[in-house]
Amino acid sequence: MAVRQKIRVAVIGAGLGGTIAAVLLRRRGFDVTVYEQAASFSRLGAGINLSPNVTRVLQEVGILDRLREIGVMTEAWLSRKWDTGETLFQLPLGPAAEARYGLPYITIHRGDFHAELIAAVGEDSIAFGKRLVDVDPEGDTAKLSFADGTSAEAEIVVGADGVNSMVREILLGPEKPIYTGHVGHRAIFPVSRLRGLELPDITKWWAEDRHLVVYFVTANKEEIYFVSGVPEPEWTSESSWVDCDVEEIRSAFDGFHPEVQALIDACPAATKWAFFERKPLPLWNSGRIVLLGDACHPMKPHMGQGAAMAIEDAAMLARCFDETPDGDFQDAFALYAANRMQRTERVQNESRENTWLKFEQNPDWVFDYDVFEVPLVAHSGQGVKTGTGS
Ligand code: FAD
Repeated sequence: MAVRQKIRVAVIGAGLGGTIAAVLLRRRGFDVTVYEQAASFSRLGAGINLSPNVTRVLQEVGILDRLREIGVMTEAWLSRKWDTGETLFQLPLGPAAEARYGLPYITIHRGDFHAELIAAVGEDSIAFGKRLVDVDPEGDTAKLSFADGTSAEAEIVVGADGVNSMVREILLGPEKPIYTGHVGHRAIFPVSRLRGLELPDITKWWAEDRHLVVYFVTANKEEIYFVSGVPEPEWTSESSWVDCDVEEIRSAFDGFHPEVQALIDACPAATKWAFFERKPLPLWNSGRIVLLGDACHPMKPHMGQGAAMAIEDAAMLARCFDETPDGDFQDAFALYAANRMQRTERVQNESRENTWLKFEQNPDWVFDYDVFEVPLVAHSGQGVKTGTGS
């Protein structure tokens, strides 16, 4: 611990993975600062699924009880056929998830979730308005340069800066993420606009080449969210999202079940997001630098596991410092990468397939993953304690 207090960790990006990494690394004695390009965060119009593999980490972070209060303790997952509404698969969650995994499945407003993460880090530990433009990793410390002309130094740099990661670029060279040919329409609005239409906690409507996922995002179920997946051959905007006319969504879901039509009729405004991914990276770490989350494995969000993988990464990175000698961060990085690459590649592939929970299947390989207890594989040339918790 005493050694670690002298080790400065610069986490680049105060997103979902970066904030968790900051909390868990600081708890292990490191001197952590998060550098975030945004000047502040607003309550973005999006929802997010927190499956038991993630709520396990959030319990460790210490915010699960709060999330139970403000999120929706989802009763069941429901897959339905796009036109007839036939049930394709129903997966009990709620008490069934608690009984099986010892943890809940929660849906929540992404902004509310992110606010809890920021509070857990502590605003004092986050430097806002700091867009990283360069890292010089040579020498005794890494030198960080920001767009505002300022600089900083750290012994360790964690690149948690998302799909267009500058840290990834410094490690592996410039390479744009791949547009997947699919977009997602996103909207959140008050349930009162549905004029009494009653909806299950979470439904995915499946058609051959498109889908719509609908769920509540606040404990009182006063706000409903939907996100689509729809083919669109090209994405020409420089931005990853644009405002979108509701008529476009209506036409994309023409002929869908009346419940879907009613939802779109009630929607006041929406945005449209391009889905990007990358081929699995050959390298997640080098020298003082390590990557996590969308910086190294962006994926289609069709399993609702993109943030989940970033959060698991952060927890595994922290755990790997417990498994390796104090101060030997390169050993910890190599162990971390060896224990995350295979799982994230599998989730990337499964997300691309878009069949997750469409028909009856056992979700244990995703939901029952315990990042703190899963036996570790050694990286080449190293022996580790296996199966130990942190
Ligand atoms: P991010 O959360 O993107 O955070 C990156 C942070 O780094 C940002 O705050 C950014 O401002 C900052 N940053 C970037 N560049 C710099 C820089 N140069 N200097 C400083 N800071 C920088 N995942 C789920 O698990 N469940 C879902 O239900 C889900 N739904 C989704 C729906 C849609 C439409 C989309 C597009 C994605 C969805 N995802 C979902 C995926 C999820 O949002 C991402 O996988 C997740 O946010 C990745 O976390 P991260 O911490 O790696 O990156």
